[in-house]
This record gives sequence, C-alpha cells and structure tokens, in this order.
Amino acid sequence: MVDLLETRGITDAGVLAAMREVPRHKFVESALAEEAYADKPLPIHSGQTISQPFTVAFQSQLLQAKARMKVLEVGTGSGYQAAVLCAMGLRVFSVEYDGRLHREARERLLALGYEARLHHGDGSGGWRLYQPYERILVTAASPEVPLALRQQLTVGGIMVIPVGNQARQQMTVVRRLSQREYEVETLQAFRFVPLRGRYGFSLDEPA
Ligand code: SAM
Repeated sequence: MVDLLETRGITDAGVLAAMREVPRHKFVESALAEEAYADKPLPIHSGQTISQPFTVAFQSQLLQAKARMKVLEVGTGSGYQAAVLCAMGLRVFSVEYDGRLHREARERLLALGYEARLHHGDGSGGWRLYQPYERILVTAASPEVPLALRQQLTVGGIMVIPVGNQARQQMTVVRRLSQREYEVETLQAFRFVPLRGRYGFSLDEPA
C-alpha cells in the first residue's frame, strides 16, 4: 500500500512511516480485512466510510506537521486517520458526530495504544475546549470553510478541508497568516461524505 502511495506522489517520510505502522485492517470489519490495504475507501457503520489510503496520505502530507503539534480532526469515523496522526507524533483531538462510530473508535484506539482525545458531537464548529490548534483536518465534505474552524487555528496554523457541494469538493488548504488574514489554496477534486451539523449540510442532531 505504502509503495503505491509513493508512486502517487506522497513523499513526506513521517506520513509514509506512520502509514506503514498503523494496521488498517483493524479499523474495518473482519469481513473486509483482506481489502484493507487496497487503495480504496471502505464502508464503516452508519453509512460512513474510512477514506482511501491515498486520501489519508494526501491530507496528512498537506498538514506539513511537525512532531508534538496539536491537531484537530473533524470526523473521527473508524479512528484510522487519528491513529495515523498519532503515529506521526502529533497531539490529536478528534470529534465525531455519530455516537456508535465515536464509541467504537475510542475502544479501537485504546486497544491499539494510540492516545487521541476523542469527543462525540458536532465538530463543524470545532472543539472550543482545547483550541487553538496548530493544524485542523476535516475529513468530511464542507459547503464552505466554517468561520469557527478558522478562528480555532493558531496564527501560522494550517487547515486542510474538502470544500464544495455534496457531489464533488476541492481539497482546500487554509493558512492563517495573522489574527485577521488567511490565505486559501484550492487543489484537486475529491469526493467525501457530507459534513453534518451547524456549519455542514444538515442540521440534524448528533446521533
Ligand atoms: N477520518 C475517518 C477515518 O479515518 O475512518 C473517516 C471519516 S469519514 C470520511 C467522515 C466522518 O465525518 C464520518 O464518520 C461522519 O460521521 C463524520 N462527520 C460528519 N459530520 C460531522 C460533524 N459535524 N462533526 C464531526 N464528525 C462529522
């Protein structure tokens, strides 16, 4: 899997080492374990997906993170991306909207020895308790870059977020240059499941 990521342009040694280390088959149902190292997204509970390895690697590389940095992930899902961020040496905070996914990810990460701080709730407005974050990674499609997330970035911080409609999004990198200035860079197209909650595509309550 990691060799394939390298041929697809992933060069960050920290990301590649982390993805070699984290056992992706432990983050999917046992019936799907054999497919865990193919470069494709796989279904998890509640109609959600674990992103395909290339997407995980691409987003992780865009973070340009250094060890010990504080990173907020929105969309814990299976916990795989959170484990990769932990293996990169980051201090990970991750929010999941779906209660069952949150509980299962918590058990899984604990069992595997990854120390991420997890929260069940709407992460579209970030996680105020532990802000600011040096990095923010959103793993669901967002209609825009939520102001609340921008505000939870440190000056010099970087956010990686797929922005667009529910069918197609552009990977977007937001850099906070100063208290008021942000630089926004738009990259290639991806397709993620929709961000829900207050600043997402639907206003239903977290399950
Ligand atoms: N990062 C995950 C992994 O490694 O398995 C995959 C994430 S999946 C593509 C997107 C996740 O975002 C889903 O689990 C979904 O429930 C979650 N999500 C959607 N809206 C959310 C919100 N407002 N706050 C937190 N999580 C949200």
